[in-house]
Amino acid sequence: MLYSSTRGNAPARSLRELLSRGTAEDGGLYVPETWPELTPGELTTLSGQPYDQIASDVLALFGGAEWQQGDFTAGIRHALAGFEGSDGPPLTHLNDQLWSMELFHGPTLAFKDYALAPLAEAIDRELALTGKRATVLCATSGDTGAATANAFAGRSRANAVILFPEGRVSDVQRKQMTCLGAKNVQAISVRGDFDDCQSIVKSLYQSEAAEKYSYTAVNSINLARILLQTSYYIYASVKIHNDCGQPVNFAVPSGNFGNIFAGYIAKQMGAPIGKLIVTSNENDVLPRLFDTGRMSKAETIPTISPSMDIQVSSNFERMLWLLKGRDGNATRDMQKQLAEQSYYELTQAERSALTENFGAMKCGKGDALDTMRQLHKQFGKIICPHSATGYFAADQLKATLDGPIVVAETAHPAKFPTAVEEALGTLPDTPARLMDLFAGEEEFATVDPTVEAVQSVIDGKLGTP
Ligand SMILES: *Cc1c(COP(=O)(O)O)cnc(C)c1O
Repeated sequence: MLYSSTRGNAPARSLRELLSRGTAEDGGLYVPETWPELTPGELTTLSGQPYDQIASDVLALFGGAEWQQGDFTAGIRHALAGFEGSDGPPLTHLNDQLWSMELFHGPTLAFKDYALAPLAEAIDRELALTGKRATVLCATSGDTGAATANAFAGRSRANAVILFPEGRVSDVQRKQMTCLGAKNVQAISVRGDFDDCQSIVKSLYQSEAAEKYSYTAVNSINLARILLQTSYYIYASVKIHNDCGQPVNFAVPSGNFGNIFAGYIAKQMGAPIGKLIVTSNENDVLPRLFDTGRMSKAETIPTISPSMDIQVSSNFERMLWLLKGRDGNATRDMQKQLAEQSYYELTQAERSALTENFGAMKCGKGDALDTMRQLHKQFGKIICPHSATGYFAADQLKATLDGPIVVAETAHPAKFPTAVEEALGTLPDTPARLMDLFAGEEEFATVDPTVEAVQSVIDGKLGTP
C-alpha cells in the first residue's frame, strides 16, 4: 500500500516512511491511494476485540507487507495499554439520541494522546530498525505539546523539542510539558505567539542543523496520527450501531480538521457512520466553508477553547483532494490561491459532495457556557469548553439527524479550569495524574523568537546526538 501527495508531485511512500513525516516534498499532504474496505462481518469481528488490538489492526491494514517486519503491532498495543479504561474510550448513552465518547483518558487528558502515544512507540521502533536517531520538533498552543512531550519522554532513539508561546498556554498544559524530568525532551517558552513558534520550527527544518539532529514532524498533518484516530470511530460506530441498527452520527470539536477526517476515513472503510458534524468556536472558518462554499482566512480570535483557535485547517487539503477527484494539480492550484489570496471557492457539486457526509456548527462563548451548565444540570456531567461546542451542535441539529449522535469529548475539563469555573462557579476535580504533575519541578528555557536562540538551547540540551 502506497501513499501519494495531495499536490501530485512527490514520490509515493509507505506508511513506515510516513511515520515521522509531515508534508510531502511538494508541500502537499500524504493520502492513501485506496481505502481498505471491510464488510459488516469483518467490522464486527474487528471491534469485538480489546481497543489496543483494534488500533493496531487498523494500522496494519494501512501498513501493508512492510509493516509486518517491524514490531509495530506490539508497540501500538503497549502504548495504549497504559490508558485509563483500556477498553477504549468510554461510551455513554445520555438520553434518546445523545451519546458521549470520552477521548481524554490518556496520559495528558486530551484526545491527542490516542495518536501520539502509539506514534512515538512506532517511531522509536522504526528508528531501531533502521539504526537511526531523530529529533521531533513541535510548535504548540497547548495540547499537542503536552501529548508529544509525554509520548517521547525517556525514548532511547527519539528526542522531542517543544516550542510554546510564553504566557499563552494554561498552567496545566505548561506543566505537562515541563515537569517530565526527561533528558531527551526540551520545552522552550518563546517570547512571541504561536505563529512565531510555528515559523521557527519551519526554519529549523531548512537549517544546517536539520541533518545533524534529523529534525522530524509529528504535527497533525502526519498521516499516521490521523489513521490512529480512525479506530475509535470504528469502535464506537459499530458498538452503537449493533445496539440500535441506525447509522451513527458524530459531533466533533474541530480545529485542523484532523480528528474529524479520521471519522471520514472510518466511514470510507465501511463503518456505519451517518453525518460527521464539524463544530467550532468563534474561529468559524470551517462552518463558513460548509455554509458558503468559500474557504477564507480571518484573524484568529483567542477564545475559551484555545485548542480550536485556528484559521487554517491544514488537514482540509486532504478532503479538497478527494473533492477534486484526487487531482493533484487542481488541489495545488486551490492551495496556491489560498496562500496568495487568502481564499478559494468550491463548486456547487463539490459543496453537495461535502454536505452529503458532513455538517457544521459554530458555537460562541455564551452558547458554550450555557451548554456546560445544561450538561451539568441534566446529567451531572462536567465538560470542557471544546466539548461544549459538540454538545451545542448535537442539540441544535438533533431534529435534522436520524439515529444516535455521539459527541467526541476532546479534553478533560480539569485542563481548562478557568472556563469551567466561569460556567459552573466551581472548579472541576483534579484527576490523580494531574496531581502528580503539580508535585514535579518545572524545567524549560525562555528565549526570544529567533531560530538562533532556539537552536542554541537545543545544542545545549542534546549536544552531539
Ligand atoms: C487539538 C484539539 C482539537 C482540534 O482537533 P483537530 O484535529 O485539530 O480538528 C479540539 N479539541 C481539543 C481539546 C484539542 O486538543
